[in-house]
Amino acid sequence: MTNKNIKDNYPYENLEYDNFNYYKSVLNNSKKKKVAPIFGLERVEIHPTSNCQYKCSFCYGKNFKNRNKSELSLSYIDNNILKPIIRNKNLLKHDPIIILAGLFSEPLLYSEIDALINLLGKYKLRFAVYTNGLSLNNSLSEIICNNALQIGGSSKCYISFNISASILHDNYSLLLKKIKFFLKIRNKMKAPIIINLPILIENDLLSKINLPKIQKDLLKISVDRIRYSIPQKPINLISLKLKYANLITKLKKDGGDKVYIRSRSGKHFDKCFVALNTISIDSFGNVYPCSQTCSKIFNKLSYGSIKKDKISEIWYNKKHMALYNNFVNIRCYCRCNHADNQFNSILSFFDKNLIK
Ligand code: SF4
Ligand code: SF4
Repeated sequence: MTNKNIKDNYPYENLEYDNFNYYKSVLNNSKKKKVAPIFGLERVEIHPTSNCQYKCSFCYGKNFKNRNKSELSLSYIDNNILKPIIRNKNLLKHDPIIILAGLFSEPLLYSEIDALINLLGKYKLRFAVYTNGLSLNNSLSEIICNNALQIGGSSKCYISFNISASILHDNYSLLLKKIKFFLKIRNKMKAPIIINLPILIENDLLSKINLPKIQKDLLKISVDRIRYSIPQKPINLISLKLKYANLITKLKKDGGDKVYIRSRSGKHFDKCFVALNTISIDSFGNVYPCSQTCSKIFNKLSYGSIKKDKISEIWYNKKHMALYNNFVNIRCYCRCNHADNQFNSILSFFDKNLIK
């Protein structure tokens, strides 16, 4: 039985369908003028450290892990990423979200994580944290909620807990306690931060757990969203057992509008449009087009370093434009994540069929 049995109903937040008229018009103008389309900065992903407490068999980054340990100093993040963004109208125009994440690395292990989140609040930059939750303590929960509150306006922040990692390492009960505390603080402060819980749909993991009970517990404590995700290659080459496909479909139905299913990742594209609205920065300071390629293994796609230049000097510089214009010629096999795959598919369709 294949993973195709499971139907995707996941809302991709960064794919604002209303915005596609904007993307179409930028593409149109760029074709007329024979220049690269300039969309504007929407996402800045920072991997502040190379450390992680876990070694998950399904970790997407496990093949890309850097052997050398590294951390990006707070002064580089502040002076070469955050300050240049808030001081530059063009970079701020699309209200970029700052995402603290990692590839086989855990952002909350960053030695200056409290200070970094305080800076995001101080600069009123909305942010997201993708974490396994193990290092989350009461004080850090308060710091995250307090700074989400500082952002103001209608913008929401996100925290996404990798539940699968804690299940695999027998730490699920501990994580649940931490999530409950986080929810308590968030609700008390009325902090605008959404709690997402991704769970991998994978045979070995599912065989270990009582998923209906986990879903029931999570919905009972009122998390905002549970997302079942089909893992990326090579794990998704293994077919999902029919009993699990049926179980997930039933849980989606039972869970109502708080439970979603997200499908597998996509193939390589001839052009990368994501590279024109997203920037990803690894713990060495190197700059890449997206979260999936944020590793030295993809150095052919890197177009700068925030240890040498400010983000305002790197974004849309000659190397960045060359990356967009010559993407098809770069020998580098990358696979988009789910949201980026949709974005690239739709923009490629416009590029080939609609734009005159
Ligand atoms: S916790 Fe996350 S980053 Fe760490 S090994 Fe597991 S999947 Fe990878
Ligand atoms: S993985 Fe997708 S989004 Fe990332 S560089 Fe490749 S084509 Fe672009």
